[in-house]
Amino acid sequence: MSEWGPIPPEHPRYRSLLVREKLIHHVGSGVVALAGLVAQGRGEAFDYLLGEETPDFAHDSIRAAAASLLLARHPVISVNGNVAALCPKELVDLAAAGGAVLEVNLFYRSPGREESIARILRDHGATRVLGVGEEASATIPELLSERRRVSPEGIFKADWVFVPLEDGDRTEALVRMGKTVVTVDLNPLSRTARRATITIVDNVIRALPLLIQVVEELCNRTTEALQALVKEYNNARHLARSLRYIQERLDRKAAQFEEGQLD
Ligand code: ATP
Ligand code: MG
Repeated sequence: MSEWGPIPPEHPRYRSLLVREKLIHHVGSGVVALAGLVAQGRGEAFDYLLGEETPDFAHDSIRAAAASLLLARHPVISVNGNVAALCPKELVDLAAAGGAVLEVNLFYRSPGREESIARILRDHGATRVLGVGEEASATIPELLSERRRVSPEGIFKADWVFVPLEDGDRTEALVRMGKTVVTVDLNPLSRTARRATITIVDNVIRALPLLIQVVEELCNRTTEALQALVKEYNNARHLARSLRYIQERLDRKAAQFEEGQLD
């Protein structure tokens, strides 16, 4: 239900509107920060440029990400408000498939928010959620204020951190701590996309189910086979590919528009 009533399923932007409604609902429930709505808007703009489907090249980063997760000794999935609101079940399933720990990690910590996010994860089957309240007692060096707080059992000692929809500063700091950092970010130009070890340029809603599927598919591969998958991946080249993809898609669109075809 939107503030104007139910969204009609035949609306051309039905799915996108449903996602917006979900995020707005979770602003009310205290899970999503207002700034999270701005972040979603920025993501949506890039999703338009990608054609709102998982681009072919994104599958390569998903494979490398899955392989790196299976190689990790202490993998942690960092959960913020937007991701918890958009795909709670997938976060729990990814943690189970990859043997990873879930940790609430917020840009804007406020009383009750961490608890609300942990509750959503528990409602979707999580048994252990780190990073709530006093448990987030370790600090990421070089970051200011509440943003630096992490769990000593989670992100602090992790060798692999999944940070979908993350901010550039924190991504940079985690990479500097020597961790493998995997992200999902629709914007291939963001600092997070550029600083992460592996960037999946896709909507988190589409990317997470694919990532879980590939983790399950690769879980019986040998260490050498997994290492080969990670080794052949190059994030800078990958981001270049994503920019070319957008560029070529826009060139095709421009040609169509010049012919008067706007659909
Ligand atoms: P950076 O700090 O990395 O330069 P930013 O300041 O542009 O990024 P932030 O608000 O810090 O943006 O991070 C949110 C990021 O998440 C944005 O780059 C946005 O494109 C991306 N994003 C938002 N919604 C989604 C989504 N549903 N799926 C994937 N990415 C998304
Ligand atoms: Mg930022």
